[in-house]
Amino acid sequence: MPAKYIAISFILVLSLSMLNPVNADEIEDEVAQESILNCEGINSLEFDGLAANQSVTFQVGLGPRLPGSNASSALLDSFIENNTAWNWTLDKHPYLDTNLTNLHGVYTPESNETDLPVVVLAAHYDSRDRAERDDDENRTDEPIPGANDGASGVAVLSELARIVPSLGLEHEVWILLTDAEDQGVVPEMLGAKAWAQDRTQEEIDSIHAFLLVDMIGDADLQINRVYPPKVGLSETDRLWDSVEGLASSLGLVKDVAACDGSLGTDIVNVNVLDGVIDDHVPMLEVGIPAIDLIDIRFGPNATKWGGYWHTHEDTPDKVSAESLTHVGHILELGLRQGSWLMDENDTLNEDTDNESKQSTQLSIVYSIIAFTFIGASLLTFGILHGSVRFKR
Ligand SMILES: [Zn+2]
Repeated sequence: MPAKYIAISFILVLSLSMLNPVNADEIEDEVAQESILNCEGINSLEFDGLAANQSVTFQVGLGPRLPGSNASSALLDSFIENNTAWNWTLDKHPYLDTNLTNLHGVYTPESNETDLPVVVLAAHYDSRDRAERDDDENRTDEPIPGANDGASGVAVLSELARIVPSLGLEHEVWILLTDAEDQGVVPEMLGAKAWAQDRTQEEIDSIHAFLLVDMIGDADLQINRVYPPKVGLSETDRLWDSVEGLASSLGLVKDVAACDGSLGTDIVNVNVLDGVIDDHVPMLEVGIPAIDLIDIRFGPNATKWGGYWHTHEDTPDKVSAESLTHVGHILELGLRQGSWLMDENDTLNEDTDNESKQSTQLSIVYSIIAFTFIGASLLTFGILHGSVRFKR
């Protein structure tokens, strides 16, 4: 009889000792890593949605921003005047009987390094020359106000142009305002195409991210992943991963706890795909990693490419300071955290690989422990009930 109790004690001690290799700290670490948010810099965000909203009103007040128009040059002039820390270039190309003009700005931080990486922030600033989707058939050939489709993207970039010089970045930021994105029967992105074609291979290689914002002022904001990536699939995935992480931190992903502890709302969902041909596509075609932050459902309950889009209803009252802030914060926080740069993200990817390896190893250890416990319990049960006996 004593042998039975010795055997039970031995089995229990053996199975408990199997627990030692995995300590509780490691398990807690594993759980913490799964849910960790990068909150660095989140309390320093400066983006001012009200100022951005005022920019929308100002731009629409200039009148239709058609290529070659006075409204267009007034808009570009004010953008340049307000941001003196940048080097601005007006980039002109023949368009119909006039020119289209892209505005290209470069912010270079003080640095001893040459060949700094580049993050490009882009938006089209022209407004559409027609309203083909308007209910009033007599007015479909009149230019639209373009508060959301045009002015909202520029408004976000105008705030970022103000903020970027104070961020202490170690890379260049370029701002590109494209012209002639939205003109003609089928919008042809002529400004973006001309700009992409003019880039040298050296410039293309230096661009870590081309971040386009378009139609992001809708009070009912919903941003999804945009395809086709055409080329650079893994690079665009990297940028969408960054968008998702930043949006999570900011409380813009449904039911994901944000840095302030609140549960996120459904503003950014990169698991939904929308097909969009916009100024990011000419960039992808020359090998620049590019994504488009865009809401293609403009207005409450709007369907894809529905609502106020390309109608005379695209007015400043449909644009909200809050939505501009959401998008501005994603871009600003990304700059502050270095989320748009390639190297840092590559390192993060390696970390993720290591994490998943570690977690596989942990799973194996847990399985062994579980099996040992089950075996030990069955054996103990057997001994106590006499169905397993030890030789004396
Ligand atoms: Zn448009």
